Amino acid sequence: MGSNSDHLVVGRFAPSPTGALHTGSLVAAVGSYLMAKQAEGRWLLRLDDLDTQRQLPGMDDDIMRVLESFGLLWDGEVACQSRNRGEYLSTFETLQRDGMTYPCRCSRKEIARSASAPHPGDDGVPYPGSCRGGGKRDSPIRSWRVRVSEEEVCFSDLRKGRFCQKLPLVSGDFIVRRSDGEFAYQLAVVVDDYAAGVNQVVRGEDLLASTPRQIYLQRLLGFPQPEYCHLPLVTGIDGTKLSKRDHLISHGVGNLAGREQTLLLASLRFLGLNPPPDLAGYSCSDILQWGVTHFDLLRLPAHGGELVV
Ligand code: GLU
Repeated sequence: MGSNSDHLVVGRFAPSPTGALHTGSLVAAVGSYLMAKQAEGRWLLRLDDLDTQRQLPGMDDDIMRVLESFGLLWDGEVACQSRNRGEYLSTFETLQRDGMTYPCRCSRKEIARSASAPHPGDDGVPYPGSCRGGGKRDSPIRSWRVRVSEEEVCFSDLRKGRFCQKLPLVSGDFIVRRSDGEFAYQLAVVVDDYAAGVNQVVRGEDLLASTPRQIYLQRLLGFPQPEYCHLPLVTGIDGTKLSKRDHLISHGVGNLAGREQTLLLASLRFLGLNPPPDLAGYSCSDILQWGVTHFDLLRLPAHGGELVV
């Protein structure tokens, strides 16, 4: 991957401060950093802090300090979703003006009951579109949804290859704004990445299934589509998904001291690289520099697994 002056790669890492970083987030941070820096691009940090109820106080600080201690230094100012609500609102209004959204009055229970269950999506059952034509106007508005089209949404992931979804079968018309006025992740992430000029999204494979919804929004809004690379997921020993409480990397719980180099090397190996053992004696920034030089998309493993330290 090279770079030239009219196509500066802009990558990013976008943790949610709802919990401390864990080994899975570290791999996503390292992977996105290596790819952006190998392309001589910029690597941004954004805190996805819209979900105020689930946030832990002080976590944004902890995340930034942890990244710094790994030498994962971001370019420019840290962005925060909570400061971008004005942009989400004007984007939402654009969709509204174009007739692409509608208020939904269905409760979760009603959606589950009315769903013609054979195609459960990743977020439960796809919304069957009950309120598309106006619905029952006497109950309160619970969310605003965007109309999806029948057309398949396809993209080419740098690791996973071609990936397609028919949104009506996966999510149906999906939520872009909740009744409390808060904007949904799918809308926020599209607006943020566009506003920051992000053109390379490298993140965990758990978000692969959300990507067609994000691309769908980008197309409605006329935003350019970033390139995507979904990385293998770090799992527990038994192959299970890491929970927010597993494998934490935090100054707060005091379990980091002195383990940075070891964890960085483990992350490089997880990403398919083969760092020489004596690299352990070097600084984090030297280790990262080695990774920037040697990173190779083709060596990314097909499957995730445990982070072997
Ligand atoms: N904030 C999201 C998360 O922590 C990631 C958003 C993204 O990378 O698009 O899962």
